Amino acid sequence: MSFGSLGLIDPLLRNLQGLNYQTPTPVQAKAIPAVLSGKDVMAAAQTGTGKTAGFALPLLQRLVQHGPAVSSNRARVLVLVPTRELAEQVLQSFLVYGEGLDLRFLSAYGGVSINPQMMKLRKGVDVLVATPGRLLDLNRQNAVQFDQVQALVLDEADRMLDLGFARELNAVFAALPTQRQTLLFSATFSDDIRAMAASILRSPVNISVSPPNATASNIRQWVVPVDKRNKPELFMHLVAQNKWEHALVFVKTRNGVDYLAAMLDEAGYAVDTIHGDKPQPARLRALERFKTGEVDMLVATDVAARGLDIDDLPLVINVDLPIVAQDYVHRVGRTGRAGASGVAVSLVCADEAPQLAAIEALIRQTLPREEEPGFEAEHRVPQTSATGQIIKKPKKPKKSKVPQAAPGAMQVFGKKPSPQTGESRRKPPAQRAEAAAKGTSLSGGNPFSKPAGARRKRQP
Ligand code: AMP
Repeated sequence: MSFGSLGLIDPLLRNLQGLNYQTPTPVQAKAIPAVLSGKDVMAAAQTGTGKTAGFALPLLQRLVQHGPAVSSNRARVLVLVPTRELAEQVLQSFLVYGEGLDLRFLSAYGGVSINPQMMKLRKGVDVLVATPGRLLDLNRQNAVQFDQVQALVLDEADRMLDLGFARELNAVFAALPTQRQTLLFSATFSDDIRAMAASILRSPVNISVSPPNATASNIRQWVVPVDKRNKPELFMHLVAQNKWEHALVFVKTRNGVDYLAAMLDEAGYAVDTIHGDKPQPARLRALERFKTGEVDMLVATDVAARGLDIDDLPLVINVDLPIVAQDYVHRVGRTGRAGASGVAVSLVCADEAPQLAAIEALIRQTLPREEEPGFEAEHRVPQTSATGQIIKKPKKPKKSKVPQAAPGAMQVFGKKPSPQTGESRRKPPAQRAEAAAKGTSLSGGNPFSKPAGARRKRQP
């Protein structure tokens, strides 16, 4: 099947040719004709399936072919997304797919000044990609009115609900014209998503390109059971042993992100971080540096889990499991995109058994466990099953087999390391592996070794 056979117009086909997109992905093959015909769509599509082009291409075509030019302080297509990163990424997709078309595009999200966004909205925009809170702010200040909205897209709807945007979404729905096209994309389908879909979609075309709540089959996933305090050490050991050169690393807390980033930095990897305390421009810069290969390792909290579009990312390492099981699907979706094969490894401690059980129930498979010799967990991780059950209670702790850190290692990590993430200090692979293997201190600075209550609560 070709894009031409889906009824796309020449300017769009030329842009796709320029991108070397040969064939539509399954979600594109189904969504493009449905959206072109003006129907509502409900699509169960994971990240990495090509869903963005699945809605952007036909909406661009409808904008070119239908309706009057946009008036000032109006938008014709609204795309709602959960995060700033995804807003930027979706905007980029519209710009690339719609190059050469006489249309205006804008992204709007919180955490940055609202004034430039208000200025750009003065002339009106054809496509506004926004996070729900900032969209409502702009609407309240009359910077954008909704009477010309022809189409609404909810991208990663499940994530928007997870992030607590339900009220904002309802406020947006109530303010939009009832005569409109609505497209809902979600990787996972909870009861809440289904209820929302039922209330806003009219006779939608249902599209499911992979079983809902499943991770892509071309991704090799496994779990390494380990004691919490030994996670940083095991992480560095796995990186060195497997000669992992380029990976997206997820950690629960900001402190954990900084700690691992500093360890990687010490071991000679070029590293950068993304977390909630970092200003938006710094986050986007970190992402850009990772994408271009300027940094080897990007260490992030959940804020980065969605919306990162990185081609051919071979590896995701979950140093901590996410609290929300759906996030696992999104994290792991960073690998194995557009048919590439990927690897996703999760370091799991006994405390995380409930999260592991929830993830396995969601993806309907028990993740294989591979203990790492020398790092066997003293606090055993209870067995879990794909039905979401924790099968066995943890056994009594056995004597630790974890090797103690060599005294020399303490000088590297004896104090809490400070990350130097600004510059690339790439060493030859052999040296890096050796340095990484040495990064094995269980020093007092290890945020993984403290009881959760002892830490100051921070934004992820
Ligand atoms: P998405 O799921 O929309 O984030 O897209 C995942 C990745 O697949 C992006 O890097 C796209 O550029 C790429 N992509 C989307 N559609 C196609 C296609 N038909 N052929 C090749 N690559 C594609």
